[in-house]
Amino acid sequence: MFNSSSAHFPGACQYRALRLSPITAARESADNSDFPWSERHLRCVWADPAYRPTPLLTADGRLVQVENPGRWNLEAGPDFLDAILRIGPDECILRGDIELHIRPADWRHHGHAADRRYQGVIAHVTYFDGILGEPDLPAPVLQISLKQALKQIPSFSFDSLDLPAYPFANLAPSPPCAHLLKTWSPDQQGHFLDSAGEERLRLKTERLAQAMARENRAQTLYEEIMGALGYKHNRNPFHKLAQSLPLDRLRQESKNDMMTAYSLLAGVSGLLPTKTNPLWDEETRGFVRSLWDIWWRHQASWQNKTLSRSEWVLSHVRPVNHPLRRLMAATGLFIDANSPFERILASSETFPSFKTILETLQEAGGQSYWAWRSGFTSPRADKPASLIGPGRAASLLTNVIVPWIAATTSSKPAPDWLKTLPPEDDNRFGRHTAHALFGHDHNPALYHTGLRQQGLLQIFNDFCLNSRNGCRDCRLTETLGAQGLNHNTLPPHQNT
Ligand code: SF4
Repeated sequence: MFNSSSAHFPGACQYRALRLSPITAARESADNSDFPWSERHLRCVWADPAYRPTPLLTADGRLVQVENPGRWNLEAGPDFLDAILRIGPDECILRGDIELHIRPADWRHHGHAADRRYQGVIAHVTYFDGILGEPDLPAPVLQISLKQALKQIPSFSFDSLDLPAYPFANLAPSPPCAHLLKTWSPDQQGHFLDSAGEERLRLKTERLAQAMARENRAQTLYEEIMGALGYKHNRNPFHKLAQSLPLDRLRQESKNDMMTAYSLLAGVSGLLPTKTNPLWDEETRGFVRSLWDIWWRHQASWQNKTLSRSEWVLSHVRPVNHPLRRLMAATGLFIDANSPFERILASSETFPSFKTILETLQEAGGQSYWAWRSGFTSPRADKPASLIGPGRAASLLTNVIVPWIAATTSSKPAPDWLKTLPPEDDNRFGRHTAHALFGHDHNPALYHTGLRQQGLLQIFNDFCLNSRNGCRDCRLTETLGAQGLNHNTLPPHQNT
């Protein structure tokens, strides 16, 4: 059973000591003919202190000092996250997100007012002047235009911006951690990332061990896999569905029949279509009809447990990631005595190869309707596709299955087992951190393992995310120095 001293994660101890040290603890519009560039040009200006004009003024005349422009957001949502601004003569500090547009009215055109991802925006920065009133833009959001300020810089030209270089290059100055880490050899940098990665996996293991104290191990793994199948947008409803329809009930009520189990999951999810779409072909109509033939017999007994459609995020989800498609993957994983799930459960003591687990995950639901379809209205494909692709399988492996195995077994894996973790597809925060720590000309091969990607995420969470004043109050460099974790003393990795 899991031991928090971490027999499974011997390399985590160095990074953990660093995390827990006292030093660390202390502390687009319709007509742009008059602006022939793009919003990306504006983002580069905002991000780069070499181009961002100063001083800036709000629309109501208050002085704005940009303490930190925020992190360039590579995903959906505001353009910059966690910016720090000093406002007015009192230099009152504001922290939050920044959205940039060419014109003030673009906020309304892009529908941000009704989008909850924009609720943390503290400043709407535009090229052109103008004031957007409520209810379009909440009154506390600062309105800042760049046009007049940029005109005061005779040497400035949008054409001189090196667009492809952003966001990872040209964002001088280098953070303090980069100055220290560039004196380390690639082996030492890699060892630091391995240690941080093991610490992240140890923390996940500890959390799973606590969950298993409340639930049996199969239900815990089921809930965790379901949450991970929801990915970013639907993690919570997937997790809630797994609690509303526990694994034992799912298997009993479906008698381990795939279609029955899928009908139950789709029915309790609240996502089963209630109307026929004229664009559906005959196979799709028959498929949905079969689901309803099963679900109507069970519906009454689940009415208090059924999720509402509004609990799901469906508007920014690619068709192949639609929850109904992912639920078929779940069905394929959990239903049947020889299901991938059962094989993973049975093999946990022997630390199966990651390749074997990945192949097992990618089999799930491989013969189902959804293996041939990316959506109800899309045509049947020529050949079936995995419902859990290699990237999602790698994510499930790293974030759920490895911590779960560590939390349930007493035996120890081979020394380099974790170092062979495959990389995940989506590692934007990791890449962002790597560029900050190792400079924009570093070799990405440095973090081409799942373990090192986890290490970058742990450093980001522990230091970059918690640094309230840009890099100025970050304790990473100081802590590394105080603990002697530098290029002179960093020992080779030990698997003890
Ligand atoms: S906040 Fe992040 S990038 Fe800045 S010094 Fe700390 S670890 Fe480095």
